[in-house]
Amino acid sequence: MAKNDDNLLKKIVSHAKEYGFVFPSSEIYDGLSATYDYGQNGVELKNNIKQYWWKAMVQLNENIVGLDAAIFMHPTTWKASGHVDAFNDPLIDNKDSKKRYRADVLVEDYLAKIETKITKEVGKAAKRFGEAFNKNEFMRTNARVLGYKEKIAAIEKRMQSAIENQNFDDFKALIEELEIACPVSGSKNWTEVRQFNLMFSTELGSVAGDASTIYLRPETAQGIFVNYLNVQKTGRMKLPFGIAQIGKAFRNEIIARQFIFRMREFEQMEMQFFVKPGEELNWYKAWKKQRMQWHKALGLGNAKYRFHDHLNLAHYANAAADIEFDFPMGFKELEGIHSRTDFDLSAHEKYSGKKLQFFDPQENKNYTPYVVETSIGLDRMFLAVLAASYTEETLEDGSERVVLSLPPALAPTKVAVLPLTKKDGLPDKARAIINELKFDFTTQYDEKDAIGKRYRRQDAIGTPYCVTIDHQTLEDNTVTIRNRDTMAQERVPINKVRETLEKNTSLTDILRKINTP
Ligand code: ATP
Repeated sequence: MAKNDDNLLKKIVSHAKEYGFVFPSSEIYDGLSATYDYGQNGVELKNNIKQYWWKAMVQLNENIVGLDAAIFMHPTTWKASGHVDAFNDPLIDNKDSKKRYRADVLVEDYLAKIETKITKEVGKAAKRFGEAFNKNEFMRTNARVLGYKEKIAAIEKRMQSAIENQNFDDFKALIEELEIACPVSGSKNWTEVRQFNLMFSTELGSVAGDASTIYLRPETAQGIFVNYLNVQKTGRMKLPFGIAQIGKAFRNEIIARQFIFRMREFEQMEMQFFVKPGEELNWYKAWKKQRMQWHKALGLGNAKYRFHDHLNLAHYANAAADIEFDFPMGFKELEGIHSRTDFDLSAHEKYSGKKLQFFDPQENKNYTPYVVETSIGLDRMFLAVLAASYTEETLEDGSERVVLSLPPALAPTKVAVLPLTKKDGLPDKARAIINELKFDFTTQYDEKDAIGKRYRRQDAIGTPYCVTIDHQTLEDNTVTIRNRDTMAQERVPINKVRETLEKNTSLTDILRKINTP
């Protein structure tokens, strides 16, 4: 069943804006749909997530190196990769509301309604039979349920075939036969179904026309493939080895919603692992395990992740799975792990006329490597971290606080230093502490408002530690250090602060939990 997510997602969106994590893009002009800007705290959190990924990939693995390829690429790249011909979604417009939809999503929503009917039948039967109810048995034998299931399978099959055979007349006929109405106008007055390419195009230089059409990359992976030989040769890399990259990608999504989950401009963290043909499925398994460990090591809760193995594989893949996360909207794809065979490298060989191979000294022959890819959306990861960390608490005294219980290593600010009052030299002492810590940690100084209010502000942005300077500090060089999660305060010598931060806010312990493959 769909989760009642709206409230939580709305709260996260407004919290993210109020505390400088995520703003709607160009908001003074009423924003641009599905485009967002990361604010002062958002950029720090995002950078920390990038660092966690980069270190886990590049720093921990001697056979993985980095790359930063350009967003613009030679247009033939996208012909070879299949994106010019096949990176399409089917779209349909309602003539009355003028709203545009993804035709497959309209049908999927219809299927979800049938699923709801099945759930209702199950609920009714469970009530009727009480303790004796056997759900599996019921699902297998109840005539109504079987009828619904058959209907779902038939619709799925017909849609799949319409997409594969590019039979868009039949796609429209299906929508009409199912009597799907526009959720806005309520009418069934639809246009034809058309293919819509998700790539953004622009013109190079001052010449217009086909010859100069270039694309904003819809994925970062192709920048890695076209550089395979450059990196392999200059880095003297031996198989298996990987190339990792973090960068922007652009997709003209027909419907972009759910905040930063589906954007038109977003960031990907991708790693292509080149292996000997025949060994790819072992590496695929190893990377699935490895990537799940990376997620779980953050401590957001193991129950929030699950694998979704693909049954319908893309034509270039021989195995594929998603790591799904329990977002406020339910379990959705966060990362993809794909065994892409030699599809990409071979296609680039064909279109460029250049050999993209590896000389295997043991076998004494050349071959085109196979590729296992891990691909995660940085913005989706950001949303996952934010959603899992957002907590509303009622305290013992009845007051409420909103706290972002971020993994300390990802927190935008590691420590806030707060003079109890603005006088008696306390601010100077606080500044001196910051001047000592700021080389190694992100810090904030705050002297405004009562101390309780300042603590709340830091809780709301997930600062793991607050250090308070009071009159006793001037006498004996001790401070209180407050823990964000327990709110416990401890009086410690000033030099203990650095020790606490080093021990509890670095990425090192999290990275140690990940075994390299
Ligand atoms: P979806 O099915 O959600 O459209 P996809 O299967 O097309 O995603 P991939 O092409 O496998 O996605 O891209 C890899 C990762 O990039 C995804 O797992 C996701 O985290 C991220 N991603 C893809 N499209 C978007 C988008 N429009 N906005 C934000 N992140 C995205």
